[in-house]
Amino acid sequence: MNPEIINWLKNLNTDKSNPWPNEVTNQAPHKPFLLLSVIDGIEQGWIENNYIELSSELSGAFYRYWDEIMGDRNTKISIPFNHLDGEPFWTTNKKNAFLDDKLFDLLKQEKHRDHVRGILLRKYFDNETAAKLIGIGEMSGDIWEKSKELSEMVQNEFVAMHSSKGKTKTSIVERQKRGQSFSLSVKNQYRYHCAVCRSKVITPGGKVIVDGAHIIPWEVSYNDDPRNGISLCKNHHWMFDEHLYTVRPDYTILMSPILSEKGQKMDIANIANTKILLPANESYIPAEEALLYHNRKFEEFHNSL
Ligand SMILES: [Zn+2]
Repeated sequence: MNPEIINWLKNLNTDKSNPWPNEVTNQAPHKPFLLLSVIDGIEQGWIENNYIELSSELSGAFYRYWDEIMGDRNTKISIPFNHLDGEPFWTTNKKNAFLDDKLFDLLKQEKHRDHVRGILLRKYFDNETAAKLIGIGEMSGDIWEKSKELSEMVQNEFVAMHSSKGKTKTSIVERQKRGQSFSLSVKNQYRYHCAVCRSKVITPGGKVIVDGAHIIPWEVSYNDDPRNGISLCKNHHWMFDEHLYTVRPDYTILMSPILSEKGQKMDIANIANTKILLPANESYIPAEEALLYHNRKFEEFHNSL
């Protein structure tokens, strides 16, 4: 591999003034985490050229690494995204960055990607942490692959109820992967916006908080078809699951009468009867059968009160 590139990667200018733990070799891990995330993006295909956007995918990959290793310690992805500008292979203008042509060409090839990953892991992390990071990278690759598989389900006719065979007795890790793959396959189609309030809730650190929510619960349908999903913010996900509103087959919102009762403080007027945001790609629009199921459960819930 080009010695100049090896030199760049081994000599990232990192902050060593803060009390950074041994796991991250007593230096700020922001830049190595971001570079590992960029490598994942190239490998998984959501980074297609060396014009790199500060995208939801990049942010997701970065925080997967950060949260697992750094725990509760807060950070912002914009820190490494902008500070990498001081490195010879990265030029940024806040929202976008350009990766050096030579380095990008190298990262397009699997064997060189692995080599670059290895350099970053050995140089900036202790052995145990490096092993964890390899696991996270592999898991995020699996999730991405699985979400692509789920996305292909929309080419076939929608089947609401699936068999539970082989789906219930899986490990916690398998269940997490399954859940994250489904969520990703849904919210991707809504460009990470809540279909109800249109918000794309971004934390001060740059994390995007929307869920890919099941319309017919997974425990009932075992159905991870993206058409059994809607992208929702945490509030609207919870309210949907609690039947405080439902989405009619014409995609308009029917609010629960409970919310209009005296004393309720929730501001609902602005979403009642509005049409939800639909994915740009019509193939991913929520299935009528799934919505009708939710409508029935909504009705049953209110009849039981
Ligand atoms: Zn919302």
